[in-house]
Amino acid sequence: MRYDVAIIGAGIVGSAVAYRLRQVLPSAQILVLEKEPTPAAHQTGRNSGVIHSGIYYRPGSLKVRLCAKGREMLYAFAQEEGIPHERCGKLIVATEREELPRLQALLERGQQNGILGIRLLPPEEITEYEPHCRGVGAIYVPVTGIIDFRAVARRLLEKSKAALYTNAEVQALRREAHGYFVETQAGTFQTAYVIACAGLQADRIARMDGLNPPLRIVPFRGDYYELRPEARHKVRNLIYPLPHPTYPVLGVHLTRIVNGEVEVGPNAVFAWAREKYSRAGVSLRDTWDALSYTGTWRFLAKHWKEGWAEYRRALSKRLFWKSAQRLVPSIEEEDLIPGRMGIRALAITQQGTFWDDFYFAIQERSLHVLNAPSPAATASLALAEAIVEKALSTWQFSISVPVSGS
Ligand SMILES: Cc1cc2nc3c(=O)[nH]c(=O)nc-3n(C[C@H](O)[C@H](O)[C@H](O)COP(=O)(O)OP(=O)(O)OC[C@H]3O[C@@H](n4cnc5c(N)ncnc54)[C@H](O)[C@@H]3O)c2cc1C
Repeated sequence: MRYDVAIIGAGIVGSAVAYRLRQVLPSAQILVLEKEPTPAAHQTGRNSGVIHSGIYYRPGSLKVRLCAKGREMLYAFAQEEGIPHERCGKLIVATEREELPRLQALLERGQQNGILGIRLLPPEEITEYEPHCRGVGAIYVPVTGIIDFRAVARRLLEKSKAALYTNAEVQALRREAHGYFVETQAGTFQTAYVIACAGLQADRIARMDGLNPPLRIVPFRGDYYELRPEARHKVRNLIYPLPHPTYPVLGVHLTRIVNGEVEVGPNAVFAWAREKYSRAGVSLRDTWDALSYTGTWRFLAKHWKEGWAEYRRALSKRLFWKSAQRLVPSIEEEDLIPGRMGIRALAITQQGTFWDDFYFAIQERSLHVLNAPSPAATASLALAEAIVEKALSTWQFSISVPVSGS
């Protein structure tokens, strides 16, 4: 069998690309290759489950455009498909007076980004939304919501009617005259085009395809705690601190997830493996790749203060609890029970800066999604439209079906 397009990676981005391809190329042979036994086993299945508004991102960036569009597409998809979700709104809370100018600046950024309904709340109004939360001011963001992204990815794959091979780690890409031989653990597949959506392995797959991307994926672990059932009532929906001004994370937040549990986290610490979900998880290859790269050292040197604070918090439940308690003072240390963890793919340049926006590289017969950080899960449907449009228009795809959308 020769496929038209092979997608590498069945996270939410690969699944949404398969779904979009099926919409625009109804008769195409689409293949999805996933190295794990099930789809969405990495970032997609281990994230906070938040449908983001787009308030944080640089005005005019791809992130802003695709987050806003993708968010509404996601709500509509979840509604149509009966996937549990809720447009519950969130609070971003300033806990010290010195934070108020940053809160105001974030509100203005949100307004510039066209986020509907956001407004500043004085302290007495915070408790109307979150009775146990305390702050000197907050931004209320009504369009934010919650969803199970793993369920979304599964449904997208089903609807794409793509041939899905799991336990099929891509190990080599061999160019031939009219496409590729893709060598995997599950055998070799022939395809005319490749779209790689490999998340934490994106840079490696790109190198397999002869590219020399201007970034490297460096893993950053995020630990979560859960609130014990008796304490869940202390958080109604989503409570966030102000994000750190330069460190690329949103800060430890309190999140109700769709099954009613409440999670606290994640933090962000350098990880010794890209895909090992334990504090002791080490991969020599991943560690070598990260630490032999000048960009990592430059990044760590720039952010040593934040990095050190995150490390201390990762080692101390008490410090983690203190972060949660700043937002909800009635949370007790015993309310926190250790939860799961996720690992972010941070794309770091040689200069030690992180790549802040979505980023793809395109070649004659392949497209590589090299950076799909948060809010890529929220934006996935719009991101997939953009990826498919870029790919098909560049390749002048021979199955001539008009590309709609974006
Ligand atoms: C802790 C955390 C919290 C987050 N919270 C949110 C949030 O609340 N909202 C939001 O919108 N975003 C959030 N994000 C970001 C979001 O989860 C990611 O941006 C998104 O899941 C990226 O999807 P992906 O498909 O690119 O990557 P992934 O989900 O990592 O999928 C990549 C897939 O490729 C497969 N793969 C890799 N290499 C190979 C190979 N060689 N052969 C075959 N398959 C391969 C992997 O097994 C994997 O299944 C969060 C991320 C993290 C880590």
